[in-house]
Amino acid sequence: MARKPKFQTPTGMHDILPKDQAYFRKIYNVVENIANFYGFGKIDTPILEQSELFSKGVGLDTDIVQKEMFNLKTRGGDHLSLRPEGTAPVVRAYIQKGMINLPQPVKLWYFGPFFRYEKPQAGRFRQFWQFGLEILGEKSPVIDAQIIQIFYNILKDLRLKNLLVEINSIGDSQCRPYYKKLLKNYLRSRERLLCTDCQRRLKTNPLRILDCKQERCQSIISQAPESIDNLCDTCHQHFKEVLEFLDEAEISYRLNPYLVRGLDYYTKTVFEIVEDSAEGKVLGALVGGGRYDNLSKILGRRDIPGTGGAAGIERIITSMKETGGIVSRVTLPKIFLSQVGKLAKRKSLKLCEEFRKAKISIAESFGRDSLRAQLARANKLGVLYTLILGHKEAIDGTIIVRNMKTGKQKTVKMDKVVKEMKKNFKK
Ligand code: AMP
Repeated sequence: MARKPKFQTPTGMHDILPKDQAYFRKIYNVVENIANFYGFGKIDTPILEQSELFSKGVGLDTDIVQKEMFNLKTRGGDHLSLRPEGTAPVVRAYIQKGMINLPQPVKLWYFGPFFRYEKPQAGRFRQFWQFGLEILGEKSPVIDAQIIQIFYNILKDLRLKNLLVEINSIGDSQCRPYYKKLLKNYLRSRERLLCTDCQRRLKTNPLRILDCKQERCQSIISQAPESIDNLCDTCHQHFKEVLEFLDEAEISYRLNPYLVRGLDYYTKTVFEIVEDSAEGKVLGALVGGGRYDNLSKILGRRDIPGTGGAAGIERIITSMKETGGIVSRVTLPKIFLSQVGKLAKRKSLKLCEEFRKAKISIAESFGRDSLRAQLARANKLGVLYTLILGHKEAIDGTIIVRNMKTGKQKTVKMDKVVKEMKKNFKK
């Protein structure tokens, strides 16, 4: 067995090789098109943010902050973290850049790498990519439905199938404290039966218990009081309207009373988009999001309503590959340039550049010297013509054009060859 190279990517991180770049490009293009159509502006926030942005925004008692942040201290003594998610940075930018003074709502989208120190497991990485969409400054339920619709349409444009929106409302600062108490009382009497993580969560973040995938917690959760039965009038009405908008938009959804999404900033609507198939369940959600009307207040400003979500790009690519992948639009070169001898090689570089300017793609194998090896390569690529530049031609200022189908060859002037080939492809 070959020895492992000494240097490897860090645990949970991976290279994006050329074969996968087409997927990233495709997803980027679809998201950009739809985001432009709906009036979203692109935002790039720094990879590093003050750690407190996340401990405050996402929440001190969340898994992300407790277990998954990559933290560092700068030489100057600042505590920074590699961003584990995109919403808190976007809201930070909205506040910092005074976007409150722009016509509301402000719609922003992003696409980039995120970092979480997760346990290595299938489909979970420590550096992963997400795109996200956020709408700030609007509290109407139609916005919640619109965000869901946009994510849904992006996934549909990427040809993903069996999509299902799971949705829940976790209330707001009016009704959630009451529901939390109710839930806590229910769980407290069953504390000993919960997994150790949930026993801790009972003290710090009881809502998160509803999210637990451990079998021993599942039967307890299935009997627990549900947040939608305990919403205040405002939240109840809001949720009802979100569902009506989704009905109108013909988006299939399923109420999931256990969907809480582990972050502190969510209020009212929370949602995920999943694939309604056995594999989809194992791999987890494609998109997650919700409303976060309190986040800006948590970050030190008055309440600014917001709704948004984020999609896992590696997760989407896994599904795209399962549904047949994408057809790469890379156009294969029709011409191969072969060269023999030093002088010919020198002239080849310039000639290649002339073809590029004429927008004719051309393949070469400058590292090979033997004409046979180069012709074999040309054959393999299935080009229509091979240009042969030998020492004699290089001196004469000519080049041989070989038709690969008929095997016929002719000699043309080197400074006319681009024009000549252009003529051939116009026919
Ligand atoms: P979240 O930010 O946790 O709501 O996740 C949004 C989406 O990002 C999920 O649906 C996943 O597809 C993806 N995601 C989250 N964490 C990871 C990770 N560690 N590795 C890969 N994808 C992730």
